[in-house]
Amino acid sequence: MQIVNARELGREALAKLLARPAMESNAELRQTVADIIAEVRSRGDAALLDFGKKFDRRAPASLLAKPGELAAAAESLDPELLAAIDTAIDTVGRFHAAGKPENLSVETAPGVTCQARWQALDPVGLYVPAGSAPLPSTAIMLAVPARLAGCRQIVLATPPNAEGRADAAVLAIAHRLDIDTVLVSGGAQAVAAMAYGTESVPRVAKIFGPGNRFVTEAKRQVAESAAGAAQDLPAGPSEVLVIADDSANPDFVAMDLLSQSEHGADSQAFLVTDSADFAEAVDRSLERLTPTLARAETARIALGHGAVIVADDLDEAVAISNEYAPEHLIISTRDPHTLCDATTSAGSVFLGHYTPESLGDYISGTNHVLPTAGWARSIGGLSITDFMRRMTVQEASPDGLRKLGPPGARLAAHEGLDAHRLAITMRLDRLNQAQPEN
Ligand code: NAD
Repeated sequence: MQIVNARELGREALAKLLARPAMESNAELRQTVADIIAEVRSRGDAALLDFGKKFDRRAPASLLAKPGELAAAAESLDPELLAAIDTAIDTVGRFHAAGKPENLSVETAPGVTCQARWQALDPVGLYVPAGSAPLPSTAIMLAVPARLAGCRQIVLATPPNAEGRADAAVLAIAHRLDIDTVLVSGGAQAVAAMAYGTESVPRVAKIFGPGNRFVTEAKRQVAESAAGAAQDLPAGPSEVLVIADDSANPDFVAMDLLSQSEHGADSQAFLVTDSADFAEAVDRSLERLTPTLARAETARIALGHGAVIVADDLDEAVAISNEYAPEHLIISTRDPHTLCDATTSAGSVFLGHYTPESLGDYISGTNHVLPTAGWARSIGGLSITDFMRRMTVQEASPDGLRKLGPPGARLAAHEGLDAHRLAITMRLDRLNQAQPEN
């Protein structure tokens, strides 16, 4: 991995170094996805079966998994894997349940009450990727908060495997979480089916989950019109930034960099450290450990998009991290808490020498669907509120209208909106006639 010194780089060179690998959203991709969506809208299930044959090597055995398949998958799964799934459902459930918002009611002036009521979205669509490999952990990260939010109807879409079926672990998770609509279809066609509905797929209000460029572009396109479906957040190629000092273990840090790099050739990883010796040690660990991985080639390409940056001190390291706004930030230093307090832009943060990022991917309890490409500057990862909508309600009594009506009418008059003003003053006049003031 290239090692650079932050002091020797100018602002511009640093910004260039921290740039994400080029994201494809070219005209060709847009057109391909638009064509797939149009085809699904006009031909429904038949189009899903055809696209399955074309892009997934074979059409699904059945477009919707059969109810018995889900229970059978749970029973057939290796007990140790099933126990790990149950632990993850439990920890993710505990963390997300604690974030469930409360309805509120506030008297903003005597006689005027305002409420915020949270309602679950229904139905919702969950996309669980399975192109290069099935990701059952993503099924947990999406389905657990959806259930806790109170979504009643949940459609889970995932591409078929070589036998034309959904992955057994994904089916087992659906079974555990009482999801009975599993669409065995992937890519843009699955997104289109959930957004517009087909003969066998219910139309959903919002689509959640990561995916490749076809999935991401399809989510973007269907979210453009109210006739389609809203989307969750821009969760693109994975990225990590590690801040470490010489108290960290070079092998641990190297494996953390590799664990994001093995996701895909478009992933990105940075180490920022205040120690030139530690930078060299991590580089040596990377040389030794990369070839031991099954996805060594993918990881090697991804490592080429990142760098080891030697900073003057850890304050500068945090400043660089805040500038980059990583999806994942690992702080492996003597005092990680102080650096965490100074962090203003990161999707999910991992503190200390014994909190690998992969813990958050699977089991710690936080959500692994996180903003990438610098979006961590302004948005956070998936939470229970993403599966809900907030509706406000207000009610004014006659006394409430007497109190707030006049200033409201004054603001309406200032904006020159007569009907707005009169809607208030007509009512005030009626109240004054009914109860003339003494
Ligand atoms: P996927 O399920 O997203 O995509 C597979 C589908 O792509 C196939 O079913 C097929 O329909 C479609 N497809 C493939 N080639 C096509 C073509 N030429 N034309 C049209 N459609 C085509 O699975 P994947 O490909 O493995 O991608 C998963 C992605 O999700 C990875 O990039 C991974 O990094 C990302 N991910 C991100 C997060 C996050 O939170 N940021 C989490 C997990 C996964």
